[in-house]
Amino acid sequence: MSSPPFPPFPARSNAFHQYVDCKNWIGGRWQDASTGRSQPVHNPRHDRALGLVPLSGAADVEAAAAAARAALPGWRDTPLKERAQVLYRLKALIERDLDELGWLVAHENGKTFEEGKGSVLKGVECLEFGASIPNMAAGSGLDVSRGIKCELSYEPLGVVAGITPFNFPFMVPLWMIPQALVAGNTFILKPSERVPYGSMKLASLLDEAGLPPGVFNVVHGAQAAVEGIVDHPAIKAVGFVGSTRVARLLYARGSALGKSMLCLGGAKNHLLVVPDADLELTATTLAASAFGCAGQRCMAASVMIAVGDVQPIIDATVAITRKIRLGLDMGPVISRAAVERITRYIGEAEARGAKVLVDGRGAAVDGEPGYWFGPTLLDHVTPDMPAGCEEIFGPVLSIIRVRTLDEALAIENQSPYGNAAAIFTQSGATARYCLERFEAGMCGVNVGVPVPREPFAFGGWNDSKFGVGDLTGWDGYRFWTRPRKVTSRWAQQRDMTWMS
Ligand code: NAD
Repeated sequence: MSSPPFPPFPARSNAFHQYVDCKNWIGGRWQDASTGRSQPVHNPRHDRALGLVPLSGAADVEAAAAAARAALPGWRDTPLKERAQVLYRLKALIERDLDELGWLVAHENGKTFEEGKGSVLKGVECLEFGASIPNMAAGSGLDVSRGIKCELSYEPLGVVAGITPFNFPFMVPLWMIPQALVAGNTFILKPSERVPYGSMKLASLLDEAGLPPGVFNVVHGAQAAVEGIVDHPAIKAVGFVGSTRVARLLYARGSALGKSMLCLGGAKNHLLVVPDADLELTATTLAASAFGCAGQRCMAASVMIAVGDVQPIIDATVAITRKIRLGLDMGPVISRAAVERITRYIGEAEARGAKVLVDGRGAAVDGEPGYWFGPTLLDHVTPDMPAGCEEIFGPVLSIIRVRTLDEALAIENQSPYGNAAAIFTQSGATARYCLERFEAGMCGVNVGVPVPREPFAFGGWNDSKFGVGDLTGWDGYRFWTRPRKVTSRWAQQRDMTWMS
């Protein structure tokens, strides 16, 4: 018997609401962490704690792994089509609770309600893909000789795990869970300790959707919980989404233990703008990409490379940026430390000659004493300034000015990251020239956030991803499975060996 559902989140506005403390979800029951340690989860708009999140250790990972192992045979032997039915029911429950989930994401992460709701719906798209897998997963078979057939099928790995970042509390777990569960694995999620509530609701909704206890588990915590997961011998594969520093470390650690690791990292995304770009579309799209979700998206535009004379487009972007209403159109960033980090980047760039066209430093919102930073445009940045080459992860768009398209491409190409890149132009030839040369896994033409829609898979290149394949779409199914090849002979031709 499962524990009662996680209590509904009551807020339907940005006014502060205290919530309950988080617990681990293991074997269909809410459980305290064995360490007895916890930390507050802050509402970034109000700088106040919503509740506490436990900081689990290796013993809690062990308990989750034991529950996931115990649930594995029953779930693996449940027919694929029945496993997918749980995802259909989950989709209906998410749609039923969409407003609650949108507000929950807004309160724990700082997004606006619309952004929160949009991120939940984006997660639902991934769920739809996972639910459709039975229609595509038939595998393949061939008569390779008289009476001999070879068949290929994709089998679950066993117990697998996902580790997720703070910026999309509900959506990023749904990049992994649908494919992993529908494939017949059992799952342990370690969400970001800064936004643990989305995963609590997900556990509760999966339970309500009829997922058997132990098939999905949540272990809260930070580094110790993550290392416990990566090192646990029963956990066969780990999907990670977060910063490049941690992605690189965990990829190496898990791979050395022989696990399948797919670790998505940070980004520095370049949008190239040439003089024939459409003025209004480009300026609006640049601002939306850089400042949506307060710039805390791994696909956010962080560098505009202005090729030649695009001053009218820069002026229009300044005008649009100045109209963004902090608190209404754009939320706070995740923490006080983030405000300080972003402030440092701007000060450093200014000291080295960059010009601040729109300054978000010192921004405030009446009655909401949270972690505010206004949208910021920095002009005359050079590629060697930290603001020109490092991930800031806040609402800052750096403008680098160059004379030619090849100079722009050279700057984009020398970035160690490779998540997204886009070209803004009305020329098909210019677009094609760039698309053939970008060092990025997800590219756009006149699109500011070129996130591929399912079934096109999500994943970058270079230091934005460690591992083979992408995390969503069909690649995700491949990642969470292993191919089995079966050769059978039923015809009684005893005089022939299979090799004859
Ligand atoms: P983060 O790397 O600090 O944390 C991600 C996860 O790793 C969290 O669950 C955290 O608890 C854990 N963690 C943190 N430090 C650890 C350590 N030393 N050892 C083991 N585990 C550790 O990332 P974040 O600040 O939560 O998220 C923002 C970052 O995520 C940005 O760099 C952003 O670009 C990136 N991101 C990338 C993608 C992508 O698809 N490439 C998507 C979303 C976010």
